[in-house]
Amino acid sequence: MKQPTTDIAILGAGMAGASLVHMLTPAMQAGARVTLLDGQPLTWHGDISQRPPSFDGRATALSYGSQQLLQQLGLWSATLDERACAIEHIQVSDQGRLGQAHLHASEQDVEALGYVVENAVLGEALLQPLAGITALDVRAPTRVTKVTMNAAGALLQLDDEQTLQTRLLVVADGGRSALASQLGITQQRKSYHSVALVTQVECDRPHQHWAYERFSSAGPIAFLPLSEQQFAIVWTLAEDQAAGVMALSEAQFLQRLQAQIGWRLGRLTKLGERQTYPLALVTASEQVRRSLVLLGNAAHSLHPVAGQGFNLALRDTAALAEQINLACVRGDNPGELSYLQAYCLQQQTDQRNTITASDWLPGLFGSDSSVLMGLRDAGLLAMSAAPTARRLFARHAMGLGQPATHLMGEQ
Ligand SMILES: Cc1cc2nc3c(=O)[nH]c(=O)nc-3n(C[C@H](O)[C@H](O)[C@H](O)COP(=O)(O)OP(=O)(O)OC[C@H]3O[C@@H](n4cnc5c(N)ncnc54)[C@H](O)[C@@H]3O)c2cc1C
Repeated sequence: MKQPTTDIAILGAGMAGASLVHMLTPAMQAGARVTLLDGQPLTWHGDISQRPPSFDGRATALSYGSQQLLQQLGLWSATLDERACAIEHIQVSDQGRLGQAHLHASEQDVEALGYVVENAVLGEALLQPLAGITALDVRAPTRVTKVTMNAAGALLQLDDEQTLQTRLLVVADGGRSALASQLGITQQRKSYHSVALVTQVECDRPHQHWAYERFSSAGPIAFLPLSEQQFAIVWTLAEDQAAGVMALSEAQFLQRLQAQIGWRLGRLTKLGERQTYPLALVTASEQVRRSLVLLGNAAHSLHPVAGQGFNLALRDTAALAEQINLACVRGDNPGELSYLQAYCLQQQTDQRNTITASDWLPGLFGSDSSVLMGLRDAGLLAMSAAPTARRLFARHAMGLGQPATHLMGEQ
């Protein structure tokens, strides 16, 4: 029997893998066959335990640049338009210190500095339209158990005893990429010895599209506006404090949270479910080989303090798609190393800058050292006093000023 083949196999239908499919229209129009595989089903009918990890109970802060890109791809659906909450103002503050900075969308000439969307809603926006893509073969739930690189590309062994030969394999299987390590690609792992505690809170007044980033000795906390009186919370806690905070009753937890943020956003009244995620910076030792590319968390998982993980992955995805599309339109093999290296080269600076910033921030704002406290004060004061400093910071936070791809257009 002839072995099933595809041109581009995307392993993992999380935020990174699913986004890539939508950017490969030119390749598919040029005749490329794309296969998307995931070990989880891609429809979960309200059964949360069945959701792929990307689309769990968290919310994601999308940069303005990411929102623009999703819109250009036709993925900024009516549901996203209705359910994503615009961030119009950001307050950055340091508990017990003078420095405080405010950013406003109007000052940056944009409608919003970013958008906050529940991951499940983003999941629907990315996954539902896949059914209408005729050149796409979706295999889910199907786990890939083994990958063997060969002269024609990569051979995937699937958990249903079948195999699939592909010319290009995109490994987007998340931060603990088992398949990359199977291929001898090592991961550098730097633990932050802390966890992200994620939940939602309601308060007694509308948030009016304000987001708050609060730094304190108990760790940075982000309050991201969701529905009218609701915030998504990402609270970074030291590993040894997390169990105690998770064990607090709802009333005790709200009291602790209120003490961290103060009364700037009103009284916190109701708490959602709490989840924790261990935090580490994980980077792969190699991102491309002939016929192979690592994407999303498989290539780099970041500390969520600056909310940049998926935003960076989306910019990577756009740059990768550009090279794959170029190869397919020219009739070349999309697994050719020169195209994959061109992708890496294009994203090198963006990846380095974003990873460095997200690694640097928790150390800067989590420290009690007087030198670092002085730096924090100076940084926040500079931002509050100088429009240029604010503009630079805002452009970075909005995901602008990165090398533009054809997909993203000029920003
Ligand atoms: C607490 C927290 C808050 C965050 N907040 C933000 C934010 O505000 N903004 C932002 O930009 N980013 C944020 N991030 C980062 C963002 O969530 C990640 O960048 C994103 O989820 C990565 O998606 P991914 O597709 O690379 O990986 P994953 O979400 O891990 O997806 C991998 C997929 O691969 C599948 N898979 C794995 N192995 C196999 C296999 N062998 N066979 C078949 N399928 C397989 C899995 O089922 C899964 O669906 C946050 C992260 C955390 C932890």
